[in-house]
Amino acid sequence: MSIDERQSVLHSWSVQADWRAPTVVGGQGARLHLADGRSVLDMSSLAECSNLGHQHPKLVAAIRAQAERLCFVSNAWGAEPRAQLAAMLLERSGFEGGRVFFTLGGADANENAVKIARQVSRKPRGAVIARDRSYHGATHLAMALSGDSRTQQQVDAAAFGVQHVPPPYAYRCPFGSRDADECGLRAADAVAQRIDALGANSVAAVLMEPNAGTNGIVAPDTYWPALRRATADRGVVLIADEVMSAFGRCGEWFAWQRQGESGRPDMMTLAKGLTGAAVPLGAVVLSRDVAMRLEHEMLYTGLTYCGHPLACAAGVAALEAYAEDGLIERSRKLGAKLFAQAKRLQERHDVIGDVRGGHGLFVVIELVADRDSRAPLAPWPQTPPALKALVDAAMAEGVSFATRGNLILLAPPLVIDENELADAVALLDRLLARHFAPAEV
Ligand code: PLP
Repeated sequence: MSIDERQSVLHSWSVQADWRAPTVVGGQGARLHLADGRSVLDMSSLAECSNLGHQHPKLVAAIRAQAERLCFVSNAWGAEPRAQLAAMLLERSGFEGGRVFFTLGGADANENAVKIARQVSRKPRGAVIARDRSYHGATHLAMALSGDSRTQQQVDAAAFGVQHVPPPYAYRCPFGSRDADECGLRAADAVAQRIDALGANSVAAVLMEPNAGTNGIVAPDTYWPALRRATADRGVVLIADEVMSAFGRCGEWFAWQRQGESGRPDMMTLAKGLTGAAVPLGAVVLSRDVAMRLEHEMLYTGLTYCGHPLACAAGVAALEAYAEDGLIERSRKLGAKLFAQAKRLQERHDVIGDVRGGHGLFVVIELVADRDSRAPLAPWPQTPPALKALVDAAMAEGVSFATRGNLILLAPPLVIDENELADAVALLDRLLARHFAPAEV
């Protein structure tokens, strides 16, 4: 029996009366199985989180085994999977001697990272610098951190001590630069200037996404190392929000690793791919230097479900699966292929203004009204009606694409079959021709 959940559930990020979606009853690999018997290829890993695909057998087995052993123990007690996962994260990220604080998802990881940064820097009311066109979650502080035009009216960022600076959006560089590397450097310099204007003594942290985010910005390679230098020189804690970009999405375990040691942040926040999204879990990873500043004082934060054993067991299995299945390298290889395929689409369709990403399986296609002027198809963050129609048509043909404004975000599970990937791109090619045919003159 199928129950109409519109009568009972308040759906996030939706106008309730407009919410309509098929019910998912199962899944396997990159495919979702629907209640009406259809199967759909998931080209967005649901919310850019199911990096291991759906129902990865190792994850399912680990959750089942942990459930049979011990479902829950609070933070006042030790828990084997919690200890194991924390050690694995410190090892994979090279944060030897650091510590991990577990949360339930990405927003509360960012909230707690800011709290910790303010505590260790002895700036309890210190400012936090974040970016326009960023997303860090939907709890109150996380929403204040997010530079999201949909929500900037909903929350008073200044009341949370948050300030925003322009993003390293090379295609529409806010600093007027046409060179991507220069745009990255200018964006990092804008952070340095903001810290200097406020006075480094009153800035507790800079919190940003290192490479890619669901707002479709892919930072040029010059950006993150320059940001690292600017914050280190000024004694300001740098927090990398890796909630979406980690676990292979950008071709590395953690996106900052693309720049090696010159990209190492002081703290990073994780969620989504941490458990392959099988069980909710987030984390704040602290460098040794930050962690040691907390060693002999009270940590004023906590959640009943911090380091929940079921979630941590899923996390351990997920990290093992990424390594055993070679998924980080696979994402790097398939990401390069997908990027090349998207570039070929750009040659064939004038509506594609820019293609970016491709360090891993995260490729952004930006649609424009005019390629020369780069005029957007619809004002951000509205989604053009023709793009909505394209998404509906794709769904009717069994492929689910994620869009945001004028963007198509290609972020399939890292386990996606190469033929499935090629089929999805071929479908996109056909639908772009159908929905964005050049006007006849
Ligand atoms: N940070 C980033 C970069 C994200 O993409 C998201 C979610 O999309 C979040 C934070 C918030 O995570 P959650 O929805 O688990 O609170």
